[in-house]
Amino acid sequence: MSGHPDTADGGRRDQIRSHLLALRERVATACEKAGRDPEDVTIIAVTKTYPASDVRILAGLGVTDVGENRDQEAAPKAADCDDLDLTWHFVGQLQTNKARSVARYADVVHSVDRDRLARALGSRARAEGRQLTCLVQINLDPESAVGELGPRGGVDPRDALSVAEAIDAEEGLTVGGVMAVAPRQGDPGTAFARLFQVASDIRDRYPQARVISAGMSGDLETAIEHGATHLRVGTALLGDRGPIVG
Ligand SMILES: *Cc1c(COP(=O)(O)O)cnc(C)c1O
Repeated sequence: MSGHPDTADGGRRDQIRSHLLALRERVATACEKAGRDPEDVTIIAVTKTYPASDVRILAGLGVTDVGENRDQEAAPKAADCDDLDLTWHFVGQLQTNKARSVARYADVVHSVDRDRLARALGSRARAEGRQLTCLVQINLDPESAVGELGPRGGVDPRDALSVAEAIDAEEGLTVGGVMAVAPRQGDPGTAFARLFQVASDIRDRYPQARVISAGMSGDLETAIEHGATHLRVGTALLGDRGPIVG
């Protein structure tokens, strides 16, 4: 692999650079409309399905935060990019048996939606001597019955505080805030407004828990309007992933 991705693949760099400029423009416009400071909104580049070379290009363009949703892809990519000073976000659904691996490279885990997962991450973080910021993933889909949360995961909003308590009980873990994916159907604004309310409840109890991770390529303006502090953006930065990954 070339040590000079900027010159070795200038075409890809130019493409990502123009996507990033356009994205920053979208964020700036949405912040202006919402009366918010763009400095308060962090872009997480979701690099799933894209190679480590793209992560290097993003880092070279000033992106500091990257996100992945599958451990088997994320672990080698994070190792490959170990020399870059990046914050790694794990944004996908997480099985407890992957907690050990994720605790090695992730700085922020967005998808903590049950006590058992908090306990597994806590014990693995302590074993690795690492401190992980954990977000409570909230299920915002009123259509999905409790206990049948569908493929996207998340805890019922009414149980969010108890998951936050489970995170807080673990040495090695910090309650960072909340994360959600807008429901496939319905108005994302209503969903993100609900998320903001849950976030406020958690922050009342844990003042450091300021993160609201919401908003993807298609709905980031709405998320900004409703207080998102972290956007998780894949497609708008790196291009269409095709039908392989949901
Ligand atoms: C893939 C993914 C994203 C990014 O989605 P885009 O629509 O490509 O911006 C955000 N959040 C999660 C949890 C994801 O899995």
